[in-house]
Amino acid sequence: MTEDDFPMKYKRILLKLSGEALMGSKNYGIDAVRLEQYAIEIMKVRELGIEIAIVIGGGNIFRGVQAESSGIDRVQGDYMGMLATVINGMALQSALEQVGQYTRLMSGIAMEQVCEPFIRRRAIRHLEKGRIVIFGAGIGNPYFTTDSTASLRAIEIEAQVVLKGTRVDGVYSSDPEKNPDAERFSRITFQEVYEKGLNVMDMTAFTLCQENKLPIIVFDMNKPGNLHQIVTGNNVGTLIT
Ligand code: UDP
Repeated sequence: MTEDDFPMKYKRILLKLSGEALMGSKNYGIDAVRLEQYAIEIMKVRELGIEIAIVIGGGNIFRGVQAESSGIDRVQGDYMGMLATVINGMALQSALEQVGQYTRLMSGIAMEQVCEPFIRRRAIRHLEKGRIVIFGAGIGNPYFTTDSTASLRAIEIEAQVVLKGTRVDGVYSSDPEKNPDAERFSRITFQEVYEKGLNVMDMTAFTLCQENKLPIIVFDMNKPGNLHQIVTGNNVGTLIT
């Protein structure tokens, strides 16, 4: 089958999930119901033949910036945050396996007893074989975020889009939880996001996408079917190009 015959909008995607989203209705940690829901949403997209890589955050367990207030050095805190993303990655891997998916967890920090190290060519090979690849431990360096990891890994594996799953249904002119008049954009350019000072991702992550012409879609991951809608070409969330 040539690329032109592939009926889906995307052949290879990178899905970014925040750690906080995994908390569901809890205040900390991983909510089993939410985890299963995500696994099912991802499975349905995989069944269309789409190659899926996932970057998962760690904010439900630990964030580097919160370390300093507990007397922990920032760099140490960032490594703790990276390890938190591996814990989430392991949970997601397990949930995906329970719904019959083949997966690989690759880490930006070597920990061979639990997962493979990130090796770009190997990651691409896994994707080609239909395995869902989860990237844990961020990029393996402090002072970065998992959004930056998502942008970087997406470029490295030549994904066609970064799908940023959040709890809001796109990019708004102001915070929709504070301002009822906030307007949602269905499509916006990178330049407009800068000019309007909108918050899509941190600047490092955002600039990487812009410079490499990698589109981003911000969407509500908690609404069942949304992920499927996007990959089948429906207009969901906000597309940034
Ligand atoms: N982190 C890091 N380098 C990376 C990725 C993550 O130092 O490449 C650390 C950082 O401290 C961050 C934490 O891991 O706060 C958890 O990631 P993030 O805050 O991006 O998770 P999310 O907000 O998506 O849950």
